[in-house]
Amino acid sequence: MYKGASCGMNVDNFKPHFPTEIIVEGKAKVLVPELKAYVKMPSEYAPSKAPVFYNPAMELNRDLSVLAIQVYQKMLGKDIAVCDPLTACGIRGLRYALEVKNVKKVVNNDINENAVQLARYNVRLNACENKVITRNEDANLLLSKHSAPHKRFNVIDIDPFGSPAPYLDSAIRALRNGGLLAITATDMAPLCGVHPKACIRKYGGKPLRTEYCHELAVRLLAGCLTMTAAKRDIGVSIVFSHKMEHYVRLYATIKYGAKAGDESIGQLGYIRHCFKCFHREATKGVFNIEQPSACNECNSRLSIAGPLWLGKIFDRQFAESMQREAKQRMLKNGEKMVRTLSLIEKEAEAPSTYYVIDKICGALHLPVPSVKKIAESLIERGYSACLTHFNSRGIRSDAPASIITEIVKSMTVTNRQVLNNM
Ligand code: SAH
Repeated sequence: MYKGASCGMNVDNFKPHFPTEIIVEGKAKVLVPELKAYVKMPSEYAPSKAPVFYNPAMELNRDLSVLAIQVYQKMLGKDIAVCDPLTACGIRGLRYALEVKNVKKVVNNDINENAVQLARYNVRLNACENKVITRNEDANLLLSKHSAPHKRFNVIDIDPFGSPAPYLDSAIRALRNGGLLAITATDMAPLCGVHPKACIRKYGGKPLRTEYCHELAVRLLAGCLTMTAAKRDIGVSIVFSHKMEHYVRLYATIKYGAKAGDESIGQLGYIRHCFKCFHREATKGVFNIEQPSACNECNSRLSIAGPLWLGKIFDRQFAESMQREAKQRMLKNGEKMVRTLSLIEKEAEAPSTYYVIDKICGALHLPVPSVKKIAESLIERGYSACLTHFNSRGIRSDAPASIITEIVKSMTVTNRQVLNNM
């Protein structure tokens, strides 16, 4: 039963005590706090000032989620039940109910009463009372209440502000065997190594402030999820992940069984990085904890990140199917999504970590050549090379750092010669 109806709230008489406005996102029409009413200084971040959280900048995040859940539902081939346990104004869960085919039930939830009122109003505004239920509980409590086998969800979306770590265990318990877990992490300062102690506390792994720290953030989050699931004899596979603006996002399926748990733990390990010459190496095995050795390219000291997930962080076919879904829909961010998804599809099978050309040029005090030209030169020399959505100046390659550096130097020399001859 839709709880809002029983307390006399309907679309006509609902009057929130704070300024609001109606926005349209995807197929949803949603009443949200009027963000400009909460900005007193230009530097203020309005979404967190409003009585209910709403961030228009996360539209693309939600668009991609719609695609990912649709792809997952089609792979599963049956109706799905979805949970959005940190729902705020309810926009995410509502969009799943409205835009993903064969969603039979959505449970939205928030601890904040104002948010729940708004979310319930939005359910009525979109005539989704038959599909969407809104609860007002602590997310962990709600998920625990759904941990019995017949009450579990097919999809759970953990989208908090800050770290998702406190919700991972109860989300795994409330997810069916084979279910899909979507997780956003906005605490980039810990995950990218600005606050390493916070990262170790929350994710159980050491971060590193490298140029590819956003990929490390995804891998640390995946590592944390792996260890959390393994405690319950559950394994994980990462089907999709991406970085955008101030957050990273991960999509993982889970598989019951001690063997699956062991296999996932087998994907954990460490990345060692040389801050002097950009060399990096990945070693699987959680027990592989001897002190970082010297860099085998320049003999400097290597720094270590991990334990973290060293398995795949994208499934090529999943990204390809998402792209197909994106092309079939009329979404405002359609073009941007297709661009991002096609980059991800290409980098899905490429080596872990990427070189950032600007960083290398900065260290060598050289002007920055074209990233595309460097990639072409790597391929001419027999190495693999592809671009990455993580960084528009990044290249994934199986070439050692010394080769990348050599190509950067030779290109700069060639460019100078061309200029001198003009
Ligand atoms: N997913 C939303 C944004 C959520 S922001 C979107 O896509 O727009 C995070 C929300 O989590 C806030 O509304 C906050 O009230 C809620 N929250 C914080 N701690 C919680 C808890 N322990 N249990 C349930 N909700 C919580």
